[in-house]
Amino acid sequence: MEDNKKQSKKKKLALHWRILLGMLAGVVFSLVLVATPWGSEKITILQGGKELELSNANHFVRNWIKPFGNMFINSLKLIAVPLILASLIKGVADLKDISKLSKMGLRTVGTYVGTTLVAVSIGLIMVNLIQPGTTISEDTREELMSNFSADAGSKISAAEEQRESGPLRALEDLIPNNIFFAASDNGNMLQVIVFAIFFGIGLILIPEEKSKPVLAFFDGFNEVILKLIDLIMMVSPYGVFALLAALVVEAPSQDLFFALLWYAVSVIAGLVLMVGFYVMLVRIFTKKTPNFFLKGISPAQLLAFSTSSSAATLPVTMERVEENLGVDKDVTSFVLPIGATINMDGTSLYQAVAAVFIAQAFGMDLSFAAQLGIIATATLASIGSAAVPGAGMVMLVIVLAQAGIPEAGLALIFAVDRPLDMLRTSVNVTGDAAVSMLVGKSFGKLN
Ligand code: ASP
Repeated sequence: MEDNKKQSKKKKLALHWRILLGMLAGVVFSLVLVATPWGSEKITILQGGKELELSNANHFVRNWIKPFGNMFINSLKLIAVPLILASLIKGVADLKDISKLSKMGLRTVGTYVGTTLVAVSIGLIMVNLIQPGTTISEDTREELMSNFSADAGSKISAAEEQRESGPLRALEDLIPNNIFFAASDNGNMLQVIVFAIFFGIGLILIPEEKSKPVLAFFDGFNEVILKLIDLIMMVSPYGVFALLAALVVEAPSQDLFFALLWYAVSVIAGLVLMVGFYVMLVRIFTKKTPNFFLKGISPAQLLAFSTSSSAATLPVTMERVEENLGVDKDVTSFVLPIGATINMDGTSLYQAVAAVFIAQAFGMDLSFAAQLGIIATATLASIGSAAVPGAGMVMLVIVLAQAGIPEAGLALIFAVDRPLDMLRTSVNVTGDAAVSMLVGKSFGKLN
C-alpha cells in the first residue's frame, strides 16, 4: 500500500522536474568525480595516433557515461526526419486548399522573420550597452587567440564553402535532387520540408478517393512516431544526466570563462529579454499566462539546453505545443518543423553580440551602417544555420566577413560557446513555440 502510494507520487513528478533533476545529478556527479583524488589524477591516452592527457574522471565519463548521452541524442535525431515528413505531409494535406496553405505559410514565415529581427536588435542593444569587448585585456586576448585558433580555423573552413557559392545558392539548395539523399542528412532538413510541402500539395490536388489511403498511411505513421517520442522521453532524465556529466568533465578552464564573463552576460541578458518578449507576445495575442506558456514548453527547453540541437528537440517541442499549449495539430505540424529549421532567434541574437564583441576586442569602431548590416546578415545567417550544436558559430563567420571583422576573432569566443549554444538553442525552441501559438490563434486553432 505504502509502496503503491510512493509509486504514484513518483509518477506524478512532472517531466520538466525529472529532466531538471537528471541534469543536476549529471553536473553534481561529474563535479564530485573530478574532485576525488582518483578522478583528478592525470593519465595519458592515445587518441588518433596522438597522446592526450586527461583526468581519470574525464576518461571514465567519456568511456562509460557519454555514450549513453549520445545514444539518447541519436534516438531523438533518428525520428526527426520521419516526423517532419509524416507530420508536414499530413499537415499540408489537411489544409485541403492551396490558398489556406499560402496564407499560413506567409503568416508563419513573416512572424518568424519579425521575431528574428527583434532578437538581433536586442543583441545589438545589449552589446553596445555592456561593451564586453573593452573588458578583455591584451594578454587574455592573445591567450585566447593562441589556444583556440585551430578550433576557429575548422569553423572558418566549414563556412568557406557556403560563402564561395553565388547569391542564389541558398535558394537553389532548397530543392533536393533526390529525396533519399536529402533525408539521409539531418543538416538537409529544409530540403525535406520542401519535399513534404510539395508532396502535400500534390495530395490536395488529386481526387479524394486516391488521396485517402495515402493520408491514412501518413496518419498512422505519425502516430507511431509520436509513440516513439513518448518512449524516448521516458529515459530523458537519464539521457540528460549523461550529456551534462560529459559536458562538465570536458569543459575548458574556468579562468577563460571568467575572462569572457561580460560577453557571456551580454548574450544571456539578451536571451532573457527575448524570452520576456515571447511571453509578452503570447500574453497579448493569445491571453495565455506566462506560467501556462513556460510550464507547457519547459521540457522542450530543458532538452534543447541539454542537446544544443533544435532538430533533436523538435519531436518533443511538437508534442508539448500540441498537448500542453493547446495548438491544433494542423498548425504545429506545419509551423514547428519550419521553425526548427529557419527560426533561430537565440542564434541570431548571439551572432549579433559575438560580432560586435569581437570588433570591440580588436579595438574596431563599428559604424551605425555596419551594425545595420549585421541585422541583415545575422537574420539570414540564423535562417541558414543548421539546427545542430555549434552551427550558429559556423554561420557567424559569414556575419563577421560581411562586417569586415577579422574571422580569426572566432577564437576569442570559443571557450564559452558551448554553454551559450545550450542557452540559445532553448531560446530558439521557445520562439518556435510562441510563434506557433500566435499563428494558431490567428487561424482560430488554439484551444
Ligand atoms: N544549436 C543551435 C540549434 O540547434 C544552433 C546554433 O546556434 O548553433 O538551434
